Amino acid sequence: MADKKTKPGDLEENEKLITDTDESFRDRVSTIGTKGNRIWVYPRRPKGSFHRARILVTIILLAVMAAIPFVKLNGHPWVLLDIMNRKFILFGYIFWPQDFHIFALVFLGLAVFVVLFTAVYGRIWCGWLCPQTVFMEMVFRKIEYWIEGGANKQKALKKAPWTAGKIFKKGLKHSIFFALSFLIGNLLLAYLIGIDELSSIITDPPARHIGGLTAMTLFALTFYGIFARFREQACIYVCPYGRLQSVLLDKNSIVITYDNVRGEPRETISRDKENETAGDCIDCGLCVQVCPTGIDIRNGTQLECVNCTACIDACNSVMAKIARPKNLIKYASESQISEGTKFRFTPRIAIYTSVLILLFALVSIMMISRTEVETNILRAKGAISQELPNGNIRNLYTLKIVNKTFDFLPIEIKIKDIPGRIELIAIDSLAVKPNGIAEAAFFIEIPIKYARQQKNVIELYIMSGERQIDIVETVFSGPVNY
Ligand code: SF4
Ligand code: SF4
Repeated sequence: MADKKTKPGDLEENEKLITDTDESFRDRVSTIGTKGNRIWVYPRRPKGSFHRARILVTIILLAVMAAIPFVKLNGHPWVLLDIMNRKFILFGYIFWPQDFHIFALVFLGLAVFVVLFTAVYGRIWCGWLCPQTVFMEMVFRKIEYWIEGGANKQKALKKAPWTAGKIFKKGLKHSIFFALSFLIGNLLLAYLIGIDELSSIITDPPARHIGGLTAMTLFALTFYGIFARFREQACIYVCPYGRLQSVLLDKNSIVITYDNVRGEPRETISRDKENETAGDCIDCGLCVQVCPTGIDIRNGTQLECVNCTACIDACNSVMAKIARPKNLIKYASESQISEGTKFRFTPRIAIYTSVLILLFALVSIMMISRTEVETNILRAKGAISQELPNGNIRNLYTLKIVNKTFDFLPIEIKIKDIPGRIELIAIDSLAVKPNGIAEAAFFIEIPIKYARQQKNVIELYIMSGERQIDIVETVFSGPVNY
């Protein structure tokens, strides 16, 4: 994209690898040295309007994330992702293993949603909403700046001998990191097992929750490892969404991009002479120094870019100082940059956005419209209709009913619009326990005038108390010789 390829100012080792013309920077990761060693990134403190907006979004997100496990609806969690017991509650709707098809469809819908969203709007998720970026850049990184100072001070501290001051700073930082990781681990556990179970693990004698305490410790250690050491490597190597960017993005996707048409040829600003042919980029390297993944956005869209907006803010501050227009680095598509056009709501975006809204609506309807029970009523195999002395006719049925609620459901069957009678066989009443299955056999008895055909379709209400919780259609056989 740009004429001249550079690598991060802080990453001296990799700078040597870049020639003026090659694209070899695409063959290696900016944080891995020539010997396969990790190159630690010391990004400068970001500041600017995008960063302020991200702080606001972070506060809202963290508040919502922390609050959700505490929210209950009718005494049950509002959201629960109990993988171990295959029980999921999303926004108050419970999904049991028998709802797997709905869950699979919801996830399929979400997958398509992610693909289309990324194709149009790029990596907005990564920069603004992904918990990894939010915790790393907006929480842990800020603590690091607070204790160790900015990028240069951090580098100096790294090289400094182990004095009491350094031990104190490093000790304080890592203690806070571990405490926070422990809290994040517990938050994740609250989503997986529910806040009540988590409270019991914390308050009960340890011997009663060996498994829970082990999970707590493992989660805390994992998060500590990620945020204290692994950091941006998680986005580059582990995150499947990040790895898929090369196939999800195209030249029309809106990403954070450098306007190479306006910026090149980059030239260091000089008081004495003003080069008319020079572009707006003054090659100050600030956009590289703030990058938490250690890349140079002027090289074009790269896998490592998490769209954190730090380089936009950095470059805008430079442009303001040298009185040039802002947004040399901005949210734009590659096509917009090369064609010099502004953002347009193109038919492609309109179509993709419509499909996204449709998918969202579909998934919502599927979740909302699912019934509390799943009822299966079949005529008993081999049984024929019976004519009764009172002039009625009856058929034998089998019933299988799955309770998808948290509640014990007393069940009653009623015939819709036909005077008739339901007679349970061998039991007086029918009830099904939470997430339970009940099976029964019963007769439907109706006056013969409602069953004149060989096959008559009738509808049955499944009632629980006064509430109708399902409606089922079944076939009622008329008299054999009618
Ligand atoms: S290049 Fe990407 S990851 Fe780096 S500062 Fe810019 S937006 Fe953030
Ligand atoms: S911050 Fe702006 S002016 Fe400075 S090197 Fe980056 S793109 Fe060029």
